[in-house]
Amino acid sequence: MGKPTGFMEFDRKLSTEVPAYERIQNFNEFHIPLSREEQRNQGARCMECGVPFCQSGMTLGGMTSGCPLNNLIPEWNDLVFQGRWELALHRLWATNRFPEFTSRVCPALCEAACTCGMATGDPVSVKENEYAIVETAYEKGWIRPCPPPTRTGKSVAVVGSGPAGLAAADLLNKRGHSVTVYEREDRVGGLLMYGIPNMKLEKQVIDRRVDIMKEEGVRFITGCDVGRDIPAQQLMDQYDAVVLACGAKEPRDLAVEGRDAGEIYFAVDFLSAVTKSLLDSGLTDGACPTAKDKDVLIIGGGDTGNDCVGTAIRQGCSSVTQLEMMPCPPTQRAPGNDWPQWPRVLKVDYGQQESIAVFGKDPREYQTTVKAFYKDENGKVSGARIARLAPQKDEATGRTMMVPTGEEYDLPCQMVLIAAGFTGCEEYLPQAFGLEKTARGTLADQEYATALSKVFTCGDMRRGQSLVVWALREGAEAAAQVDRYLMGYTNL
Ligand SMILES: Cc1cc2nc3c(=O)[nH]c(=O)nc-3n(C[C@H](O)[C@H](O)[C@H](O)COP(=O)(O)OP(=O)(O)OC[C@H]3O[C@@H](n4cnc5c(N)ncnc54)[C@H](O)[C@@H]3O)c2cc1C
Ligand code: SF4
Repeated sequence: MGKPTGFMEFDRKLSTEVPAYERIQNFNEFHIPLSREEQRNQGARCMECGVPFCQSGMTLGGMTSGCPLNNLIPEWNDLVFQGRWELALHRLWATNRFPEFTSRVCPALCEAACTCGMATGDPVSVKENEYAIVETAYEKGWIRPCPPPTRTGKSVAVVGSGPAGLAAADLLNKRGHSVTVYEREDRVGGLLMYGIPNMKLEKQVIDRRVDIMKEEGVRFITGCDVGRDIPAQQLMDQYDAVVLACGAKEPRDLAVEGRDAGEIYFAVDFLSAVTKSLLDSGLTDGACPTAKDKDVLIIGGGDTGNDCVGTAIRQGCSSVTQLEMMPCPPTQRAPGNDWPQWPRVLKVDYGQQESIAVFGKDPREYQTTVKAFYKDENGKVSGARIARLAPQKDEATGRTMMVPTGEEYDLPCQMVLIAAGFTGCEEYLPQAFGLEKTARGTLADQEYATALSKVFTCGDMRRGQSLVVWALREGAEAAAQVDRYLMGYTNL
């Protein structure tokens, strides 16, 4: 630890955000980073506390605490303080090959487990230190193509180019295997590209890295839907191993009256269409649904719902409401949810902040669900019947359920976005490979291997909808298993 008193001398300081009214005029990222000098002071706040829960990635009380990638956080915090940025990059890369993604979209499980934050609630700004390392490295030209010196003669097909597929492809290629990534969309990146909105992750950040991977020898085939455009058997015949990293995109639907009305979309379909139109034409092609001048109802109070709030506001909606079944979380950690667990507390995310700025209110309505949709004369949605819910303990299971109170009300809406979660991976690809899904809708596996000896799986397809940081870990671990299968041992 270069600065033993750093945590006493410097307060936590984060990047500034472009004010809500200004940033909703476009779909650009809106964080203005600290200067490199200020960031060094933030690195100095790390106490190297001896038991770095921040990098532990362990499960406590059923919840993960700390960084799932086991990033060597105290080490690179210190290097940030010392201004040794290139060395910091190499220590960061030792565990995280894609810090340009995590430092933008990760919820920072590390910071919730930081010792500095235990008593004060002011953890080290780990995520922004990570951002400063990787962006300094790009600026200085330290991140450049570095193909493997030799090739093993083995070939691997990776199906799906989300963070799990990219992590697996990157490491397998570095090891010298010849890797081809198949992606059914027109652009590489999975939910990083078509899911997470541009204001959270500008898409040139993905292209910048994918271009480097291409120069390192990874082959990308886009617009190719495996199991439909090419048979699964062809991949198994053509390659020495196959990694399925196809995500868990099957959306949870609503079985309510009027569901067939027009202008009701699944959240990811809506968000993807908006990003595609933004990238193809700067939103001038009219190819995506628009919330302009509409009252928008979002079913689901989680992060995907919040992305829909931010997107609908940027499109110029008249109002936005987000239905959340659960009660409003507490503002402080509740008993039993102690440090270093992830805090289950009220979070006001960027879209909700923007709703407060534009409409004067948080869009979330807690303890509510939709009971039916109303249609206008053209068959489009015109409103929704909302039911209020209350928690009730189920004596048989001991679990608390949300049950209708009997109170209902109507809400006008001309667009509905369903962000009610996901039920697992799509059916057709496992079917094409003759593989079974689990009861959770994921692909059954044994340490990333499937029932087919040369076929492996990772990411959301294996663990269910999760986080980018988990997808990266899964991709890296699956790569090691594939390498062991191909070579008889692994050094990944
Ligand atoms: C709207 C939204 C916002 C999110 N925001 C965040 C966030 O801010 N932070 C965070 O940490 N996590 C976030 N997540 C979760 C995160 O994006 C996922 O956990 C992560 O992307 C999973 O990575 P993956 O590689 O397993 O799958 P995916 O990213 O889903 O990628 C799977 C890829 O496989 C392709 N594919 C599927 N089937 C085939 C086939 N048959 N042939 C060829 N290609 C195929 C798909 O087109 C897709 O590109 C968000 C999720 C959503 C839905
Ligand atoms: S990947 Fe996420 S949890 Fe890990 S150090 Fe970075 S911000 Fe923290």
